[in-house]
Amino acid sequence: MNASAALLVVAITAAVVCFAAGAGPGPALATFAASAVAALVAQRFVSAAESRRDREARRLAEHAAGLEARVQASETQRGRLEAVITAMDEGVLVVDVGERVLLANPRVRDLFSAPAALEGRSLLEAVRQAPIVAAIEAALRDGEAQVREVAIGPQPERHLRFSVAPFPNREARVGAVAVFRDVTDLRRIESVRRDFVANASHELKTPLTAIRGFAERLADAELPEPGAKHAVEAILGNARRLGELVEDLLELSRIESGSVPLAPEPVAVADLVQRLLRELDPRLRSGELTASVATEGRGFARVDRRALEHVLMNLLDNAIKYTPRGGEVAVRIRPAADERLRVEIEDTGIGIPRKDLPRIFERFYRVDPGRSRALGGTGLGLAIVKHWLQAMGGQIGVESQLGRGSCFWIELPCAAETPQDDAD
Ligand code: ADP
Repeated sequence: MNASAALLVVAITAAVVCFAAGAGPGPALATFAASAVAALVAQRFVSAAESRRDREARRLAEHAAGLEARVQASETQRGRLEAVITAMDEGVLVVDVGERVLLANPRVRDLFSAPAALEGRSLLEAVRQAPIVAAIEAALRDGEAQVREVAIGPQPERHLRFSVAPFPNREARVGAVAVFRDVTDLRRIESVRRDFVANASHELKTPLTAIRGFAERLADAELPEPGAKHAVEAILGNARRLGELVEDLLELSRIESGSVPLAPEPVAVADLVQRLLRELDPRLRSGELTASVATEGRGFARVDRRALEHVLMNLLDNAIKYTPRGGEVAVRIRPAADERLRVEIEDTGIGIPRKDLPRIFERFYRVDPGRSRALGGTGLGLAIVKHWLQAMGGQIGVESQLGRGSCFWIELPCAAETPQDDAD
């Protein structure tokens, strides 16, 4: 029985008692009415309180259901994420700012031959590789993503390429995530290919030299057969071309294998360009081309002189080769951002179609193979240039308009000191 029903019973009882006590119907009725009004008012209060409580209870129930759904969704998401991270072929390692491992997937344990779970251990204890620790520390300290490669040993040596990114963002750094990829097979294949090209080129060199030598002797000799002279000249021409190709292939292998030690020194780039243009003067004249050199600032680069000479010779040679009679070749040297020196070699030549631009630095890629061969190109020049620049810490790029000309640019580390040959 609720409170209002109880009050109603009390009202009826009070009226009956009043009537029985001989108070007469008047006072009994008044007592009943007062009690009934009190019962009704109480009923109002009670039902208002009850509906408030019900609403509150409903709200709480809804809130609880929402929370449960959210917990379930996040559990599902967590489960999915865990499944993905566990199945990944890449190693994933997450550390906090204190360099403690928060998460390491099974691939990381496999890559670093860890006998047990790595979570909770220190970074150094987990990976045991100073260069990896240094990269992760740099990412945590500077807030910058890092991409590096390390060889970890002892035997068999494995090559790991890894990237480290701080998270969640620069403002509030709470840790870093590193992703490791085993590139051992890739590096092995590259090294086999490099060795094969180097060995094959080397083996070709000796017979080629002999063919060339004999063909030169025959070209100088009196030949009785009509047409023999022409045949000998064709043999000689092709032997020379093959020789150039073999030399280019050997050079590319040498740069790639890092077997050519580089000796960076301050170089006055304008002086070097002027000297190369003097060497190329007969070709400039025969093509009726004009060449100019403009320097802004000191124009000193800190590079290996021989490698830079090779780079500039290749780019100038191409500019001359692919510029029709009467054109211009302009070299501009100026300072660029980040302590770099920019050298631009612009021509008014045939230009390069937009679709070919991204592939122009690949070995043997030519826009027009027939034209390139006819002009004596091997298709390896720009690939060699790119490798030299990478070895020197430089960069290369090109802008070109078909039929208007091309502008190849390189950026090199600047030299603060005056070059030796200038100081004299
Ligand atoms: P190649 O020995 O054929 O000149 P490179 O590697 O030096 O080989 O150049 C690759 C290709 O890029 C060339 O075959 C040519 O099509 C194009 N190329 C290079 N330099 C220029 C240039 N200055 N103007 C137009 N095309 C160029």
